Amino acid sequence: MFISVDMEGISGIVDGSMTGKDQPDYQKGRTLMVSDVNAALEGVLALGEAEIVVCDAHGSMTNIEPEELNRAAALV
Ligand SMILES: [Zn+2]
Repeated sequence: MFISVDMEGISGIVDGSMTGKDQPDYQKGRTLMVSDVNAALEGVLALGEAEIVVCDAHGSMTNIEPEELNRAAALV
């Protein structure tokens, strides 16, 4: 399964202050992003999916900290 995720639309992200690297709430936005992805992964794993690839599709594509992502998934 391939999952592409953008910061806009993540639960709890309400404006640009949480999506820009130079913005005050960016770290909170990153935490919310990986939290949503991990929640989705739990659902996917429950279905028995064996291979999962996650693409961080926001901006520079370096928003998700690899160590915070469920280890069942590979991160692009
Ligand atoms: Zn984006």
